[in-house]
This record gives sequence, C-alpha cells and structure tokens, in this order.
Amino acid sequence: MNGDQKRDAFDAAGDVFAKAMKRKDYDAAIKAGFDAYSHYRAEGNEARSLDALGLVYIAIGEMLGVDDPPASSASCSFCGRSASEAELGAGPNAYICADCVGIFHQVLGPKRSAT
Ligand SMILES: [Zn+2]
Repeated sequence: MNGDQKRDAFDAAGDVFAKAMKRKDYDAAIKAGFDAYSHYRAEGNEARSLDALGLVYIAIGEMLGVDDPPASSASCSFCGRSASEAELGAGPNAYICADCVGIFHQVLGPKRSAT
C-alpha cells in the first residue's frame, strides 16, 4: 500500500458519508455530501458535484424515514427507469435516478450563457 493512487475529495467524502449513514448520523452524512458538493461546484466539476448532491439526497431520504434501499421493483418517479437500469435515490414517497437529479440541476441551477 503506497499512496500512489490519488484519492480525490469525492472518495474521502464518500467514506465519511458511508460511515455516517451506517451509524444513522444523517447530519454528518448530509454535511459530508454537501461539503463535497460545494467543493466540486467551486471547481466547476459539474458531474462530481451532482454525484455529491445525490449523496445528500439519499441521506435526506433516509432521515425522513425511508429505511429500505430501493426494491428491485422500484423505479425513478420521474423517468420511470427501474433500479436495475439506473442508480436510484429514495425519497419519502418517490425515487429519483442520478440522471434526473442532473436534469433538475440543469433546469433549476445557475443559468449558462447561451452560445
Ligand atoms: Zn430518472
């Protein structure tokens, strides 16, 4: 184990997130996700910032009482893709896939200047 392989901030946040989720420390989990989100937003790394936002979303979903991971029959409430087709985050009464999180981010996020 030499430290050749550079871990990026997302991996580090992911570790913190996973441990916090395991002990149901949702405050810490949300903070870890949001810290990573802020980090990547500042860097302009949109893909990673959306990944991080997904962590926040999952933590909030768990915090609001969705204990079960998405069942295989679950599907994205927005585009309808199933858990086998897309990675789903669970909310209290809905699921959302990573792609739809990205779409909402593009629609609702900061406007880009048209080219
Ligand atoms: Zn979707």
